[in-house]
Amino acid sequence: MYRGRFAPSPTGPLHFGSLVAALASYLDARSNGGQWLVRMEDLDLPRCVPGADGIILQALEAFGFEWDGPVVYQSARTGAYRAQFEKLRQDGLVYPCSCSRREAGGGDYPGTCRDGVRDPGRPLAWRVRAAEQGDFVVLRSDGYFAYQLSVVVDDAAQGITDVVRGADLLDSTPRQNWLQAALGYAVPRYRHVRVATNAEGEKLSKQTNAPAIESGRASEQLGEAFEFLGLAKPPAGLAPAEILRFGQRLWNAETSGM
Ligand code: GLU
Repeated sequence: MYRGRFAPSPTGPLHFGSLVAALASYLDARSNGGQWLVRMEDLDLPRCVPGADGIILQALEAFGFEWDGPVVYQSARTGAYRAQFEKLRQDGLVYPCSCSRREAGGGDYPGTCRDGVRDPGRPLAWRVRAAEQGDFVVLRSDGYFAYQLSVVVDDAAQGITDVVRGADLLDSTPRQNWLQAALGYAVPRYRHVRVATNAEGEKLSKQTNAPAIESGRASEQLGEAFEFLGLAKPPAGLAPAEILRFGQRLWNAETSGM
């Protein structure tokens, strides 16, 4: 059984880039007779905005999306992440690290703390010994489990078979595959769609002040998202749910080369 998902971070309302990710994952799931789940990635509480989850769900509804089962909140799942982290620790696959973000550098982690913590007096993060994937962080020094671990634990717990998301997460996929192997999980299929940018070429996000999608313009904005994904324009005058049904019929035929 195909199970897909959309996993927004409730740091603000959905913008056009998140609409594209929702639409691509939805059409892929529904056109394959699959389920489509929504998961709130609200683990990084300091970055989350109270009430943003409700605004996101209302927008999804107004845009005609229907999800299966209850919405899962990552903030309620810390125990599951801790259990998997302990497993990695018992298997000797993680090590503590005192490096600040700056010391760790912008690219792959240089391995400074790999054979012993440089400064044990500082708050410690925990990294996996993944070498080729860059010894990424799974438990942050502020005590929050990192995105890479939580997303892998949740995709497995929810039985996700297919992940369709933006190409901005391409780098994350080999890291997630590494964790799936380490934790003995099945590996979902991954497909990445192009990322929406603004006139300056920056990825649309809260940081780049991307405007929120507007429920009053749902049909029009869905049409723009279709165009962005290279799909035929939906006929004028359709309600959002009808546009999504129209898209399901197009999806496999028009995107098989994507
Ligand atoms: N929560 C992530 C984001 O909003 C998406 C995670 C994913 O699709 O794997 O960028």
